[in-house]
Amino acid sequence: MSKISLVVPIYNEAENITPFYERASKVLDGLTPQWEIICVNDGSQDGSMALLVSLHQKDPRIKVVDLSRNFGKEIALSAGIDYVSGDILITMDADLQHPPEVITEMIKKWHEGCEIVFAFRRSRKAEGWVKRHTSKVFYWLLGWLTDIPSHNRIGDFCLLDRRVVEALKQFQEHNRFMKGLFAWVGFKQDFVMYDMHVRNSGTTKWSYWRLWNFAIEGITSFSSVPLRVWTYVGCCIALISLIYATVLVIQTIALGIDVPGYASLMVGILFIGGIQLISLGIIGEYIGRIYREVKSRPLYLVKRLYGLNTARSKETVTSPTE
Ligand code: UDP
Ligand code: MG
Repeated sequence: MSKISLVVPIYNEAENITPFYERASKVLDGLTPQWEIICVNDGSQDGSMALLVSLHQKDPRIKVVDLSRNFGKEIALSAGIDYVSGDILITMDADLQHPPEVITEMIKKWHEGCEIVFAFRRSRKAEGWVKRHTSKVFYWLLGWLTDIPSHNRIGDFCLLDRRVVEALKQFQEHNRFMKGLFAWVGFKQDFVMYDMHVRNSGTTKWSYWRLWNFAIEGITSFSSVPLRVWTYVGCCIALISLIYATVLVIQTIALGIDVPGYASLMVGILFIGGIQLISLGIIGEYIGRIYREVKSRPLYLVKRLYGLNTARSKETVTSPTE
């Protein structure tokens, strides 16, 4: 009998934890007697942590990794992955936007030999127009700029086989775009479809600013095209300048000395200045990432573990397990 581990990042989800636990445990009980839910408390400020501890005391199959502060969903997911003990890992959100009932279908695919099973939304109607369209543009860009296969078909509601989990644990990088990594590792991948629901309670933690940074993270951690493109932009501008210079020389010889206008000079200077600043900014993005990597700080810090063993993790735990 295979053991199933759910990994659920939790950040201020007090109203969602109990309904999530009830629905997920019902589905899991129907599949196998051996399961665990690893909740990663990502520095919640509401009553989430107290609720998780009381759930753990009631049902020891609920295990908790309490991070020392809010590290963001990607790192919370990585922390959860470090602690799983099951043969199958499933990552999902706590807000019931990912219906636990889909797990049954994902497991079926796993039995057929798939090592990664993504669950994709049939439609994104639960989200607003702007979010749907900006995300479409982002995934199109990501597919175009990177070598992530099936780019428009990635997500972070997915099933991973133990082998994939072991592969993912080897990743040391700090700049993490987990759904990209899930797709990047290869293995036998397939997908199932589901209808996304609206959030059970509360609001999304992803402001547009956060999503924008997440998008930059996705592109910069999988592609160096934004760095290389400036060589070509520079070449094009140099070529255009050369042609323009030739035209000016011929004009001066044929028509006599002409004093070019102030406006064209200004436009030229500002345009080139702008282009240089953009390219510098992009180089800066990458340097910032190199800086973060070379510092090689621990990816996350754990305040306390409930029902889990420290030995499984690469990271330091600041206080003992319970
Ligand atoms: N989350 C997290 N840390 C954060 C933000 C979010 O662990 O800094 C968790 C959150 O509790 C939820 C999941 O990530 O379980 C997805 O978050 P949310 O529903 O806000 O994102 P959306 O569904 O809008 O993409
Ligand atoms: Mg959500």
